[in-house]
Amino acid sequence: MKETRELTCIGCPMGCALHVEMENGAVVSVSGNTCPHGQSYAEKECVRPERTLTSTVPVMGGAFRMAPVRTAKDIPEDLLFAAMKQIHSVKLNAPVKAGAVVIANVAGSGVDLIATRNIDAA
Ligand code: SF4
Repeated sequence: MKETRELTCIGCPMGCALHVEMENGAVVSVSGNTCPHGQSYAEKECVRPERTLTSTVPVMGGAFRMAPVRTAKDIPEDLLFAAMKQIHSVKLNAPVKAGAVVIANVAGSGVDLIATRNIDAA
C-alpha cells in the first residue's frame, strides 16, 4: 500500500517541509530536506517515532516535594506508556543530584531516566 506524509523537520530552525513517499510501511523517498538530517528524521518519524519523555517523581525529605526527570535521549513512542507506568512507581530520597540515574534502561528502551535538577535535603 502506498501513502504519502507531510512533515516539518525539527532538526534546526529552518523547519524544512518534508514530503515522504511510503510503500508497505517503509519509506521509499524523502524530498524537501536541505540536509541529510531531514532524511533520517523522516525515516525515523514515519517508521518508529521517538520522543523525549519528561515527568516528575516524588522526593522524600527534600527541599522540594517533586523532582523533574527526563529520558537521557529520545525513546520509541510505543514505549512511553510503559515508561510512565514505571516512573509512577518511583520515589527518590533527598538529596537528588541533577544527572543522577533515576531508572536505568527505562521500559527496556536502552535509555536511562535521569533527574534534571538538584534537590537538597530539607
Ligand atoms: S532538513 Fe536539515 S536544514 Fe532542513 S530543518 Fe532539517 S536539519 Fe534543518
